[in-house]
Amino acid sequence: MISIAENLEKAATRIRSAAEEAGRDPSGVQLLAVSKTKPAELLREAANAGQKAFGENYIQEALDKIEALSDLPGLEWHFIGPLQSNKTRPVAEHFSWVHSIDRAKVARRLSEQRPEGMAPLNLCIQVNIDDEPTKSGVRPEEVPGLAQELSGLEGCRLRGLMAIPDPANPAAVQRERFRELAGLLAEVRRGVDNGALDTLSMGMSGDLEAAIAEGATIVRLGTALFGPRDYEAQ
Ligand SMILES: *Cc1c(COP(=O)(O)O)cnc(C)c1O
Repeated sequence: MISIAENLEKAATRIRSAAEEAGRDPSGVQLLAVSKTKPAELLREAANAGQKAFGENYIQEALDKIEALSDLPGLEWHFIGPLQSNKTRPVAEHFSWVHSIDRAKVARRLSEQRPEGMAPLNLCIQVNIDDEPTKSGVRPEEVPGLAQELSGLEGCRLRGLMAIPDPANPAAVQRERFRELAGLLAEVRRGVDNGALDTLSMGMSGDLEAAIAEGATIVRLGTALFGPRDYEAQ
């Protein structure tokens, strides 16, 4: 049996040590619990241990869990998987964040479909930081232009960038990719100033230390909290 509370505590310790090592304030790094493929009861256990932010990759699975956990106050749902433009409505209606924006069209629909009275939907552009044709995300050189397009959307607020560097890379290359993403965010900020470009969503269970060293503000942890998955996202 795994104890989610214990895993959360271990993750918090890893985040704290990595931040201190990097001379950063640990409160500047948020833990997103990536719960894809995991049953709602495990998320409930995490929520009871104090975890509020959850990341999900599949819309129907996420909606089922949001419904099952609707008695819990203050949960924050982040959509982190591939998103087609004909599937945006439930995301606009039920999530606080989308980390995987790779087209203006998807963001425009999310903005139009965001219900009146809800806070703007927070967006991150997903960057194909390894610049490999087979990977999802926007090529680095396309990021500033897309950021310009997204900055005018009323129902959304552009918050920053997300990437999933190829885990097969050696550690030094991995860290270099995180640094490149941070550099790209600085470039975006020079072109777009909405006062909210504060987010680098990078680092997962295997590489959160390198990501925090390079400026991560959200680390997305699945395996480290909930154990291995039976089936995989990509
Ligand atoms: C599954 C997933 C994660 C979590 O990965 P772990 O290695 O299990 O921590 C993080 N980000 C995204 C986008 C994912 O799809």
